[in-house]
Amino acid sequence: MGAIGRKIVSNAGLNVDELIDLLNKAYSDEWLAYYQYWVGAQIASGILAVNLIPELEEHANEELDHAKKLAKRIVELGGTPALSPEEWYQKSTCGYLTPKDAEASVLLKQNIQGERCAIEVYNKLLFLVKDKDLITAHLIRQILEEEVEHEQDLENLAHDFQVKIPLCEEKCHCAN
Ligand code: FE
Ligand code: FE
Ligand code: MG
Repeated sequence: MGAIGRKIVSNAGLNVDELIDLLNKAYSDEWLAYYQYWVGAQIASGILAVNLIPELEEHANEELDHAKKLAKRIVELGGTPALSPEEWYQKSTCGYLTPKDAEASVLLKQNIQGERCAIEVYNKLLFLVKDKDLITAHLIRQILEEEVEHEQDLENLAHDFQVKIPLCEEKCHCAN
């Protein structure tokens, strides 16, 4: 734990344990997003799969990097990143959309939903910390930028594939 690093955050008026909890929820989302992309890239089928797979693999790597950055910040603030997959599932806001249908257009829809949820989560978190914890704010802003890019990348593919993506289909795991 960075003792003074933690103190400046609490002195600025944030409940540090609550912040750690929110960061751990996001950390859990990232691991589930990582696996959803990773396993999707292994199983994707159909004529669109060849276009989709490289994007899924790229996003998987970026979600894993988000998890790493969140873990670092959680430790700096004196917390412990969620230590088991059970905890990821329990803490996650965006959940896990099991890719039961490996058809590329179905995977694409599920992944877009996940990104939209992630954008909402990080946007809320950014507004919570933006005037009080500049280090976390910087980190969250970097992640948020990448989640917006992920949504855009997948929307571009949906457009190329002529797959219609309603704003919130099936069960929406969105934050609110
Ligand atoms: Fe992410
Ligand atoms: Fe993402
Ligand atoms: Mg991309």
